[in-house]
Amino acid sequence: MTTAPEPPALQPIPSTSLLAGLDTGLLIHTAHRPKKNGPTAGVQAIRDLLARERVGVVYAMPGADASEVASTVHHTRAAAPDAVILLDADRYTGARRKLAGEGLSDGWVEMQHRLGLRWALTDSGYVAAGDREGLRTILHQAARLQQHSGPDRGVLAGLPLAKQWLTDDADALISEIMSASIATALMLEDPQDPLATRGAVSGLISVLGCELAPGLLRCDMSALGALAYGASLVAVGDHSSRRHFTPVPDPTKPQFGYAPKPAMLVPELLGYFHLAKIELAITAAPALSVWKCACGACGGTRLDTVINSVDPPVRAFEHSVSSLARLGRQLFAESEPVWWREKWNYALQDAQVAHEAIISIDHPWEAASALGAWVSQFKRAYHH
Ligand SMILES: [Zn+2]
Repeated sequence: MTTAPEPPALQPIPSTSLLAGLDTGLLIHTAHRPKKNGPTAGVQAIRDLLARERVGVVYAMPGADASEVASTVHHTRAAAPDAVILLDADRYTGARRKLAGEGLSDGWVEMQHRLGLRWALTDSGYVAAGDREGLRTILHQAARLQQHSGPDRGVLAGLPLAKQWLTDDADALISEIMSASIATALMLEDPQDPLATRGAVSGLISVLGCELAPGLLRCDMSALGALAYGASLVAVGDHSSRRHFTPVPDPTKPQFGYAPKPAMLVPELLGYFHLAKIELAITAAPALSVWKCACGACGGTRLDTVINSVDPPVRAFEHSVSSLARLGRQLFAESEPVWWREKWNYALQDAQVAHEAIISIDHPWEAASALGAWVSQFKRAYHH
């Protein structure tokens, strides 16, 4: 067994309202699992990266039994003894999802504490639009579990929300969180990106401004915006299905099963793109600086090095985690919180300009709508 890890060379990524006992505000939301269909190389990759890049991990583990959960935690601890680990029971997704009113399992929270996790994420059901009773059920049960857990063990109430909670009911959400007085973490539902509109970003910003700022899990690059505006912690998904969650499919409409194509982060564009699309654009404009990556995995090489490697999905995963952490450090670890929103806004505007440079050569490139939504909120705040 290895015991003494190298002292970490990189700074962890701070947040303005870090939960007790945590040293990083940036996590990776992943389903990499040691058994079943998970890529084993990917499992090792995340463990190595946690220690090297100082990010935390949220393991999405739908249907996992106790022994699988325990072995995931133990194997992660072996490679990254100090890594922040959260466990997402993922009961709020799919057609047979649990609903908020069904309450929480005490056993799921207790198991996480027994495994030594500082914060246990509740196995909450889905909070539909307007389901205030369901929201209260989760918050109040979580508060009771927190009372019984003692001061060194935290309970994080998972709030898997219909997007309307941000666009229409943000005030009600804030008032329920404050009245329960419990740490929370939001996950957002939408067929595409829940934070693609100004209304959703504006609602999120007001919720993040409350005294008990929630975390934001299962998110896209908007996670960095959430950190800039006060989130306690954020988790970016390693796959499109873990960068939001989707509504129950309409049973009257035909469903097309598809295998999602591997994607990776292009850090300067603040977005994830399919490898094949990136490869075509590099061929069209190989000299553009956005294709060069200085992350710990790439070391200054061009992104087609990842695409042409022996195992592109694992290399893409390593690059995406490493470059996300690098971006997090540039935005947050290297300056005081008073500058974070401005730095995030500059990064957004640079990304929009970088998209335009590619569009002039390879037209199907468009900046994600979320980028514009965040920029417009920043402008609004500063022109009041
Ligand atoms: Zn890279």
